[in-house]
Amino acid sequence: QAKQLDKKAFKKYADKLKFETRNFIDGKFVDAKKGKKFETINPATGEVITSVARSDASDVDLAVKAARKAFKSGVWSRMAPRDRMTVIYKFGQLITDNALQFALLDSTDMGKPISEMLNIDIPGAAMTFQYFGETIDKIEGTVTSTAPTEFHYILRQPLGVIGCIVPWNYPLMMAAWKIAPALAAGNSVILKPAEQSPLSGNLLAKLFMEAGGPAGVLNVVQGLGEEAGKALALHMDVDKIGFTGSTEVGKLMMIYAGQSNMKRVTTECGGKTPQIVTADAPDLDTAAQYAVNGIYGNQGEVCNAGSRILVDAKIHDAFVEKFLEKAKASFNPGDPLDPATTMGPLVTKEQQKRVLGYIDIAKKEGAKLSLGGAVPKGLEKGCYVTPTLFTGVNNKMRIAQEEVFGPVGTILPFKKLDQAIEIANDSIYGLAASIWTSDVSVAHKAARDIEAGIVWVNCFDHGDMTSIWGGFKQSGMGRDKCLETLTTVTQTKSVWMHLG
Ligand code: NAD
Repeated sequence: QAKQLDKKAFKKYADKLKFETRNFIDGKFVDAKKGKKFETINPATGEVITSVARSDASDVDLAVKAARKAFKSGVWSRMAPRDRMTVIYKFGQLITDNALQFALLDSTDMGKPISEMLNIDIPGAAMTFQYFGETIDKIEGTVTSTAPTEFHYILRQPLGVIGCIVPWNYPLMMAAWKIAPALAAGNSVILKPAEQSPLSGNLLAKLFMEAGGPAGVLNVVQGLGEEAGKALALHMDVDKIGFTGSTEVGKLMMIYAGQSNMKRVTTECGGKTPQIVTADAPDLDTAAQYAVNGIYGNQGEVCNAGSRILVDAKIHDAFVEKFLEKAKASFNPGDPLDPATTMGPLVTKEQQKRVLGYIDIAKKEGAKLSLGGAVPKGLEKGCYVTPTLFTGVNNKMRIAQEEVFGPVGTILPFKKLDQAIEIANDSIYGLAASIWTSDVSVAHKAARDIEAGIVWVNCFDHGDMTSIWGGFKQSGMGRDKCLETLTTVTQTKSVWMHLG
């Protein structure tokens, strides 16, 4: 679709776009009880898009009550699996049918190129509902072997009310990853979108009703993290929080659970992904292109952004040359609504400041600025930063240890594979990693020894709904996508019948 529409057509469509800015509770859009609002800003222009409901604990409570009532009524939780499947399939289909609206909402709200929305986020979100829809009538219990005087079975049941707190970097897709398995298993859901990208969550709620979803089953509470998000995570009648966001806030989720009702928590948090390029990488051009895409895609605002590129000293200079050439050819900041744009602005002025701050830190630490490091000329109104690369980085530097969450790559040379793996593992994070090698033993050894939830060999960022998504260490303790996720939105119950 992006290819069929030119910039003008997008703009025309964007001007006519209508959006809903209230909360969605019990099947209806409602204002925040106290009537408060916050502004959401277009990071490409700095202009206010609209004002959105700023909810507090009383709004959250309303949503939890509606979700609980729906859950207890059985209208969704005990709906025949085939009927629930029909709704979820239709929901996924409606996401595809409304692709342009979703693309415009998220691109305008948080700045990602519209072509990425249309090629990645929207098909990814729709596929998530398709995949989890298919699991609905396959969620099974088991009968176990017990004494002849007993009959014992294990039931797998939904948890009840699940709060989904999501970030702004993939607003629609992250919401889909959390909501789809929770709904598939029969839970009621309250989505809390990030305050930087609130708009697509409300469209999602509206489409759920259009798909035949009952009122109260999917609710959306808009607002700030420390107000609405915290109230949701502290609520005594929420059974689980599915969280994606920073490690810092992920830890808070665990604290809130302990301070309230010991609700279940899964967390998908930050990363500092190493991309290891060995001297026998099968094709250095391909490795360099993947490395470039791995750090600059989505402006580097990606949890698994390949921000530490570990390169064998023997090929270092040749690799850097190829990397720079491909970075310049592939990523140029521009208007996110132009289908030709490959890099949009960062999400907010605050994020831009943070990224520019890290660029300063890296310079002060003695790393060599080999590309970018600035605000692009002519785009000063927006929150842009040029694709940036530091060479001569060592892993002790802050630029190699801390998550920048922007288009800032670092190149770290290594001499031996063991050293590369040691550097890769010298991080509080462990979300993902990649290695480029022609040696199958090296590939398997690295895959075994790297402390990360996802390891790519001779590729980067490949994925499928069937594969898990989640990290080791402080990258969190959940798994998204895949069947395993269903275990985090259900609970098991042991039932004994005495046959004596
Ligand atoms: P964030 O942690 O600031 O916010 C995430 C969500 O938590 C938002 O909805 C926010 O409103 C809410 N929140 C913030 N403070 C809260 C509080 N005190 N109580 C309750 N809720 C609160 O993260 P962000 O800046 O929106 O997103 C960027 C981060 O997300 C990065 O660290 C990135 O790595 C991570 N992320 C991880 C994955 C993954 O799958 N591992 C995917 C995408 C993003």
